[in-house]
Amino acid sequence: MIERKILLNPGPATTTDTVKMAQVVPDICPREAEFGKVMRELGQGLLQIVHAAPEKYSCVLFCGSGTLMVEACVTSLVPAGKKILFLNNGSYTSRAVEIAEACSVPYVELELPIDRPADLAKVEQALEADEDISAVYITHQETGTGLLNPIREIGRLAHEHGAWMVADTISTLAMRPIDIERDNLDFCMSSAQKGIQAMTGLSFVIGRTDYVRASQAFPRHSYYSNIYLQYESFERSGQMRFTPPVQAIYAARQALQEYLAEGEAGKWQRHEQTMEAIHEGLAELGFREVLPREYQSGLVAAVRYPDDAHWDFEQVHDYCYARGFTIYPGKMQQLGTFRLCALGAITAADIERFFVIFREALEHIGVSVPVH
Ligand SMILES: *Cc1c(COP(=O)(O)O)cnc(C)c1O
Repeated sequence: MIERKILLNPGPATTTDTVKMAQVVPDICPREAEFGKVMRELGQGLLQIVHAAPEKYSCVLFCGSGTLMVEACVTSLVPAGKKILFLNNGSYTSRAVEIAEACSVPYVELELPIDRPADLAKVEQALEADEDISAVYITHQETGTGLLNPIREIGRLAHEHGAWMVADTISTLAMRPIDIERDNLDFCMSSAQKGIQAMTGLSFVIGRTDYVRASQAFPRHSYYSNIYLQYESFERSGQMRFTPPVQAIYAARQALQEYLAEGEAGKWQRHEQTMEAIHEGLAELGFREVLPREYQSGLVAAVRYPDDAHWDFEQVHDYCYARGFTIYPGKMQQLGTFRLCALGAITAADIERFFVIFREALEHIGVSVPVH
């Protein structure tokens, strides 16, 4: 038995024991055909999560955290003389902009308010203002705030303007239902430690195969994270270009089976119930969330600090952590916030147990409940 911890941080998420144990395998050289087969089956299985037809889309695996997939997309998918348009309403797209800056990728940034979904009229204006935009980039859920962006509508605008649509779906894929074609995405990405509830170290991009192939001719702004090179190498040799995260891949294979057994609708319903329990618990204690419900992803609650001299996030964190629950600081400039997330192999019942401990923590440090 492995002690069960409830992670309410935005990934890595709580995993099942069966996923943890799937990592314990005989040593294998990842250059063996047997392991190539495991990777190929995993890549094909991951396509199913976003209903991507294997004739049209490919899944490209990388060894690295989710940010490597952001870097892969930003540095691999812009042809010479063209630009990528960032629709920025949160810290994760800001990170993508920093990557473009660091890797000298030509870009345009549309800065948008961080407390509401991207405004379609402004997106359209930005697309019309610059004919050199060949890709539009947005973060589906800005995990710092829990804000959900309208990818389907933005994807439609991108396509109307002849641009590829790239979405950071790292904190939504395998949780909120996504249909790559219907949602007008050309590339989307994720990391094994988030929606599929597996281990850190494995990440992946799912995208249109014809576009991946076309990108062979594009300038390469990175070496390790180039999508075409990784794709081509795997197609040719059945191997990742560089050492894959072997054990994380076995765990991901198990996690994918568990995902498919739970089913897209069933899993989303579990996350919704978990988040509902979070909303209820917060409201009962008098806490205020930063965003109105209609803008929220349903996976992350960003919560304002109470107005109480005794409040101390670190102390509350430590009290809860010692009892098996991990809470997480917020990511909003100038606003004191913390986050409670519904990712991972957890249920509403875990949240109910959490709020017993959380209330105790508040009482322990002298914060009066309900809070103000
Ligand atoms: C978690 C996350 C990432 C990747 O973070 P890593 O720490 O590199 O795994 C990227 N984008 C979003 C929206 C995320 O939630």
